[in-house]
Amino acid sequence: MWAPPELLLRHGLPLGMEFGLRLPDGSAPSGMHDADVRAALAEGLTTRPLRETLADTWSWLQAEGDRHPTLMRPPPTPGWTPPRNSGCSTSSPTKEELPAMRAIIIGAGIAGLATALRLHQIGWDTLIVERAPARRGGGYAVTFGGIGYDAAERMGILPDLRAKSFDTQELVYHKSDGSRRFALDRATIAATTGPRSITILRGDLEAVLYEKVRDHTEIRFGATLTAIDQDDHAVRVTLSDGTIEEADLLIGADGLHSATRTLLFGPEEDFLLDLEHKVAVFMLDRRPAAVASGATGTLSSRGRTAAVISVGDGRNVAFFGYRADHARPDEDIATQLERVYGDLGWVIPEALAGLQRTDSVYSDTISQVVAPCWSSGRGVLLGDAAWCVTLFAGYGSALAVGGADRLGTELAAHPGDIPAALSAWEAAIRPEAERKQKLGRRVKGVYAPANPALLWLSLLPLRLASLPPVRRYMTRRFIKG
Ligand SMILES: Cc1cc2nc3c(=O)[nH]c(=O)nc-3n(C[C@H](O)[C@H](O)[C@H](O)COP(=O)(O)OP(=O)(O)OC[C@H]3O[C@@H](n4cnc5c(N)ncnc54)[C@H](O)[C@@H]3O)c2cc1C
Repeated sequence: MWAPPELLLRHGLPLGMEFGLRLPDGSAPSGMHDADVRAALAEGLTTRPLRETLADTWSWLQAEGDRHPTLMRPPPTPGWTPPRNSGCSTSSPTKEELPAMRAIIIGAGIAGLATALRLHQIGWDTLIVERAPARRGGGYAVTFGGIGYDAAERMGILPDLRAKSFDTQELVYHKSDGSRRFALDRATIAATTGPRSITILRGDLEAVLYEKVRDHTEIRFGATLTAIDQDDHAVRVTLSDGTIEEADLLIGADGLHSATRTLLFGPEEDFLLDLEHKVAVFMLDRRPAAVASGATGTLSSRGRTAAVISVGDGRNVAFFGYRADHARPDEDIATQLERVYGDLGWVIPEALAGLQRTDSVYSDTISQVVAPCWSSGRGVLLGDAAWCVTLFAGYGSALAVGGADRLGTELAAHPGDIPAALSAWEAAIRPEAERKQKLGRRVKGVYAPANPALLWLSLLPLRLASLPPVRRYMTRRFIKG
């Protein structure tokens, strides 16, 4: 008998743990029906009545005492639909004999939390190890679309993400003295990102994922990993608190400066491609009056960009991105921003003053991770740790969630064969990651150029989009989808 997984899930049946043999559609299991059994019948073999088979199986299950099997649990999220061919929907006997699988995830950012959620959905146990003492909030605004949006829909988290997303009402480009160059309205901004995309604070995206996994995974805050040891059967990870954890898979989702990557593959300088810019982002405790509620104001001048983004619920983010040749080694971030942006007017003085009152600043170089391979045995990198595409590509959170979703799909499709799952996963994700890395490198060349003529040219597409006829055309196309 075959029934689609959606039907079984709707009736609360744990996949693969019920009576009978459930075969997915497709060509793979067709041999079960097509086999020529004439020789067996000629030898006098008969088919056992179904009633007997069921009665025997039931008494065997009761004798085993396994009345609450845990393998292949149904997913906890009602809206979640198992992807086709994910392996969640197959029930080969060998797979049911496998014990529950376990993963250690390093990092509780978007990549780590999304991976924990997806692995829970395919029945894995997870432990997350996070260096920070507690969960981070705030951050910066991310545009979340593409494979991340599709994955969020499949994983059943899209409604929660949408509820926390915000629409930018107006995007205003300013000159250095604060006067307006031009502005894009809400409809035009939406048309540039497309219908299957949202804008959300990074901390809010993490919060949605955290709420979904907190009851299913242990998160060990204030800890990191110090050593990895693996063989054909397991991976053992020594943590900074002295404990040793064993699992089937180790996932390094610990960002650009991944310690997992260093332990698995070698020093970070072998993998980081410096895009010669720096970024600093922090939450403001008040919105500068010159930026309207719901709006984003931005200015670019001689290799420097600054923006104030109103991100909903009265929260505001200050963003500074500048060419690395403005930076000086060993200068603290407050001194550096003051020196690099101190001559600019508009809301810059207010934003810089806000830096003194904020409790956390994200600041780093803008670098890509270029690694020829993302896995080594039972260790794999995911998210910025593996492929950081940078803010120039504006796609890192999408790749993190899309990558996590696909990893779960491939692990479920290759039960008991982690190397095969990891190589299928990498083959699926790498082309998209490399495309976005190329885009990031192209954007670097036109990001806040020092030359005013180049700056004018780099803003030209947006300036055109702000013109009423172009705006009307783009909006019409957006509405048509
Ligand atoms: C300013 C800015 C704007 C961006 N805009 C966009 C955008 O518009 N769209 C988009 O899709 N993406 C955007 N991105 C990229 C996106 O934010 C990242 O790609 C995404 O957050 C990566 O998530 P991650 O979980 O891989 O890494 P991270 O967010 O870096 O998370 C890593 C986690 O691991 C922890 N950790 C680090 N080291 C260790 C260790 N040794 N042990 C234990 N834990 C550790 C960290 O504390 C952190 O919690 C932007 C990035 C920036 C900086």
